[in-house]
Amino acid sequence: MSQVYDRVALIGLGLIASSMFWAIKRGGLAGEVVGYARSQETRDTARRIGLCDRVEDDIQAAVKDADLVVLCVPVGVMGAVAEQIAPALKAGATVTDVGSVKKNVIEAVAPHLPNSVHFVPGHPLAGTEHSGPESGFAELFDNRWCLLITDQTADRSAADDLARLWRGMGSNVEEMEADHHDLVLAVTSHTPHLIAYTMVGVADDLRRVSESEVIKYSASGFRDFTRIAASDPTMWRDVFLSNKEATLEILGRFTEELFALQRAIRQGDGDHLHDYFTRTRAIRRGIVEAGQDTDAPDFGRGKAL
Ligand code: NAP
Repeated sequence: MSQVYDRVALIGLGLIASSMFWAIKRGGLAGEVVGYARSQETRDTARRIGLCDRVEDDIQAAVKDADLVVLCVPVGVMGAVAEQIAPALKAGATVTDVGSVKKNVIEAVAPHLPNSVHFVPGHPLAGTEHSGPESGFAELFDNRWCLLITDQTADRSAADDLARLWRGMGSNVEEMEADHHDLVLAVTSHTPHLIAYTMVGVADDLRRVSESEVIKYSASGFRDFTRIAASDPTMWRDVFLSNKEATLEILGRFTEELFALQRAIRQGDGDHLHDYFTRTRAIRRGIVEAGQDTDAPDFGRGKAL
């Protein structure tokens, strides 16, 4: 693999940024990676563990002369961060983000950016329930998809370079429109997270099943919900506030299907249940065949979401 950028700046040093740093180093994809985080604590941790070639205490110093600036902060603060860095961006630089929602982030970020920079929003479909500067690892993006929104810039080479970086970090890359991205993610990620949060909340409320029983017997399905429901509260609050429309649409569909299953159970309609579960099993098989999960019986998916 070869170097794509002379200098990359990572703004926010959590799970995604730290994984990007280790993946960039693994692939030799940048001459220098500069990092910035808002808290002294995170910057100190980054320096201690060698996360980034250089950690700056000032956000504008971090983006100065960078060829690529990656916004790795929660979706709800992307706009404010873009406003802060805008005056210090190098002409011709590319700005991207890794936010889990696209339309809202584009609307928040784009107005702040000078015309002299290229804006190519992105979203790596990879993560874990862990967060912070010490949670990253170089393999996070291997064989995962990264979606790029390329209609924000007329500059094809800016989008191509960013795609090259993501491929170098192990991802498969696809381009998508922002609206469609938000709908796809509402189905594949956002609504499932909400359901996991709900199910864990329900178990927490049920007094007839003791806490120790819930923990002890969780391998029978509940365990995967708890893993997802342990995801970062700030990140997920922002995701739902930002992808409101699509999530509500899918949640409406989910509620209807849940009522239909509820009715089938009440009426003893085994055919309905069997047909439904046959259909869902085929979807699972498709995911395994596409290499997006393993067939290990203990939900053995390691760290990837
Ligand atoms: P994370 O581990 O919680 O790290 C977030 C970083 O953002 C931290 O460095 C934090 O700084 C900084 N930050 C938080 N609030 C801020 C604010 N108000 N102003 C400035 N900086 C702030 O988060 P992450 O999982 O890497 O997520 C980062 C982005 O990636 C989010 O937009 C998320 O939607 C997206 N994403 C996440 C996943 C996932 O599964 N985790 C997957 C794909 C995309 P301090 O450490 O100083 O507090």
